[in-house]
Amino acid sequence: MFKSCLIANRGEIAVRIIRACNELGIKTIAIYSNADENAQHVLLADEAYPLDGLTPAESYLVIDKIIEIARTSGADCIHPGYGFLSESPDFARAVRNADIAFVGPSADAIDLMGVKTAARQLMDEAGVPTVPGFISDDASNIDAFLDAARKIGFPIMVKASGGGGGKGIRVVHNAEMLQDAIVSARREAEKAFGDPRIFLEKYIESARHIEVQVIADSHGNTVHLFERECSTQRRHQKIIEEAPSPILSDEQRQRIGETAVKAAQAVNYVNAGTVEFIATENGQFYFLEMNTRLQVEHPVTELITGLDIVQLQFLVASGEPLPMKQGDIEKTGHAIECRLYAEDPRNNFLPSIGRIHQFDMPHIMGVRLDSGIVSGDEVTIHYDPMIAKIIAFGSTRKVAISRMLEALKHLVILGVTTNLEFLVELLQSEEFQNAQVNTSFVDQHLQDLMPESNLTPEMLIASALFDALPKGIEINAESEGDVYSPWARNDGFKIG
Ligand code: ADP
Ligand code: MG
Repeated sequence: MFKSCLIANRGEIAVRIIRACNELGIKTIAIYSNADENAQHVLLADEAYPLDGLTPAESYLVIDKIIEIARTSGADCIHPGYGFLSESPDFARAVRNADIAFVGPSADAIDLMGVKTAARQLMDEAGVPTVPGFISDDASNIDAFLDAARKIGFPIMVKASGGGGGKGIRVVHNAEMLQDAIVSARREAEKAFGDPRIFLEKYIESARHIEVQVIADSHGNTVHLFERECSTQRRHQKIIEEAPSPILSDEQRQRIGETAVKAAQAVNYVNAGTVEFIATENGQFYFLEMNTRLQVEHPVTELITGLDIVQLQFLVASGEPLPMKQGDIEKTGHAIECRLYAEDPRNNFLPSIGRIHQFDMPHIMGVRLDSGIVSGDEVTIHYDPMIAKIIAFGSTRKVAISRMLEALKHLVILGVTTNLEFLVELLQSEEFQNAQVNTSFVDQHLQDLMPESNLTPEMLIASALFDALPKGIEINAESEGDVYSPWARNDGFKIG
């Protein structure tokens, strides 16, 4: 096993990786930007080194700086987490060229799966079903796209080849709208990924997002750890994930698992990865993409299988064989994850920044908190607004939901606006309770899901006073000559 690991990330996932390292006896080395000097991942790691930069482009994305720190600190492996450099083949290559182990797949596998169009073609060859689509390098030939769209049939989805995080995606309902959608998707993709290429896919309506966690060692063993359902999405981005999928039969579950293993084997995949599928109402499924990294929602799989995916990543990266075969992997119960975002649902989900005055969650049986923040931390504009994940386990889906609701209703987060109440509304909706949520549900029911504001002016004034009083308000009304000011009265007036 490795002796030390540099964690090339921040926030909750860096903390999650540090905890796995601690259990394995691996020394942890953190890196940090100027905004993160006092961040949890820095305080919890055994060592921490500054990147001398503020924005991601100046810090967490600078390959040379990170490799240099790994070298001088003597790290024998690097874990990239998710986001940032986790899916950069250049990074994976640079790490290995520096004779440091990369806790992730080969640069070639990242390359092959990194571009959605190339991955689709590869999957077609491997016999993994893909959504009917159209790929062309000539984006200016709108007629070719129109022709293809008519053949596939509307609605159509325009997708970015280099996409991720739901960006560069447009749903097009008729031919008139196609050209504009292509132009705007290309613009968004260029801005987000530096790659404007797009392609077309049939838009599957009332779809479910079902993905399979796979893990493979370097001895030819590839297994899956069952599926997760992530259909609760806003603008094609996941908000709530669960495992197992409430709609799959055992037979469908086995088939989707085997298909995911086949997809991973087609690129000689080693380490943990996720094969994403879009499923129709009757359980037919098509390959969407493969995420060649640890995913945000990996904890729900950990809770139903009892396996620590991050520890398994270290194990296979160090060259060890997987400690189990497919038949040994069992699942039990149900797990649900909610992503807590510093954002304002009532203001078009705009990120909310500021100091977190208080952050507390009650201890509830079966509920896990993966968080990168504590009371007093600052949420800045520089990074993703996801600040914590709440993961609830129960013997049944119903138990998991009720534990989650108990945790969320008593969770305290003050200082920034969050989607906490929105999550509660979602979990309480009849559709979620009955497992009837598809990928367009949230966007279609946004108004009904919007929590009612229960903040009265009286509460706001009382809170402001409560916040200000202990710090001492400097008021000297008498000297200012305001004889009506309550602060000038000597009759024992008090705020209770
Ligand atoms: P990203 O890289 O942004 O995650 P994906 O290909 O995984 O892109 O798609 C993101 C989401 O968009 C999916 O989870 C699903 O909700 C929706 N989606 C993608 N492709 C289709 C499709 N062909 N039909 C219907 N929905 C789709
Ligand atoms: Mg995806």
